Amino acid sequence: GSTIGILGGGQLGRMMTLAGRQMGYRFITLDPVEDAPCAQVADEQIVAGYDDYQAAEKLAERADVITYEFENVNASVADMLSEKSYVPQGSQLLYTTQHRLREKRAIEDASVPVAPYAEIKSEQDLVDAVQRFGTPCVLKTAVGGYDGKGQWVIRSTEEISDAYNTLRKANTDLVLEQFIRFEKELSVVAARNKEGQVSTFPVAENIHIDNILHTTIVPARIDQKVQDRAKKLAKNIAETLDVVGLIAVEMFYTSDGKLYVNELAPRPHNSGHYTMDACKTSQFEQHIRAICNLPLESSELICPVVMVNILGEHVDPLLKWMEENHQNANQDVIIKVHLYGKKEAKEKRKMGHINLLTKDINLALDWIENTGIWEKKQLGKKEGVLS
Ligand code: ATP
Ligand code: MG
Ligand code: MG
Repeated sequence: GSTIGILGGGQLGRMMTLAGRQMGYRFITLDPVEDAPCAQVADEQIVAGYDDYQAAEKLAERADVITYEFENVNASVADMLSEKSYVPQGSQLLYTTQHRLREKRAIEDASVPVAPYAEIKSEQDLVDAVQRFGTPCVLKTAVGGYDGKGQWVIRSTEEISDAYNTLRKANTDLVLEQFIRFEKELSVVAARNKEGQVSTFPVAENIHIDNILHTTIVPARIDQKVQDRAKKLAKNIAETLDVVGLIAVEMFYTSDGKLYVNELAPRPHNSGHYTMDACKTSQFEQHIRAICNLPLESSELICPVVMVNILGEHVDPLLKWMEENHQNANQDVIIKVHLYGKKEAKEKRKMGHINLLTKDINLALDWIENTGIWEKKQLGKKEGVLS
């Protein structure tokens, strides 16, 4: 059996490990936090920071194949890993996707549209670009943002100075995007192996609250034709970027029928967690297959599903709900709970997720609402950073 090394010890690494162990692989993870979610289920952990070069060398010595569970891997570390061990995903894809401007250019090179954007190098650049795009528009740091961190929705020209001076502190390039009044947010996870075989998972409909993914609904409540376009676009990106492993493609769908790519993630994605219970193969298994150059398996949907994230503030109410509801009163919704083994349930922190398998998406949405665990107001409605 071979050993797979994972850079990063979070929940994505944990679920990769759980899928891969079942297939007989050994796992070693590198993460600064002792007993991190992935380390709890891996065979071995190297406790060190992600850009600790020597620790990464150790990982390279002990692992036959190396993968990562986040995109901000230091370029020199990535290069060294490729030299000393085998990194099937390569370092180019990391380099491209860890910077929004490089990523957008790569998407455009695949002839896929992104929201109109501008590189911002000075406050004057921002003034000019805001004038061009109008308000609202979104200023983002090019590197390191997630869950809406490192973003500022500029609602009026008076905010320009504040927005610029706040975000420039992150010390990365900045990019301004036109605000897209989307009808729906969609995503597609695509897998590709070295042979060039591509498999795309069903299109997911995503609802964000406060910039954090709240709910994923599959099948997406949208025309089959749009779904086919979304899948084709994701396949195109996977091929153009020469992906080995997974690529998650986040998109905006507008009422005039356009699809814009928002961003990419070269790894398993939160909006693909539904695949664990609802597809013939999960995104995590597919990832392991892709990087180990095994044949990809069917990504077909077995059952309609709603995924809802469990954040820190949902943990206690959920445990209480489970204690009080030993018998699942709602036979039409099968409840699959996944928890990541994180110790501290901080507010907004992703602690786990639930996959609700159902004949009818509305029954699952009702279940979510009836538990009272998640705030009522936002469910099923359109969500953007503006709301
Ligand atoms: P993630 O956790 O997905 O990596 P992130 O911090 O990288 O998040 P984005 O995906 O860029 O952030 O944006 C978060 C959310 O904010 C989007 O899913 C979308 O709801 C909203 N958003 C971002 N950019 C735009 C835009 N240009 N127009 C409209 N809404 C936007
Ligand atoms: Mg992102
Ligand atoms: Mg995103």
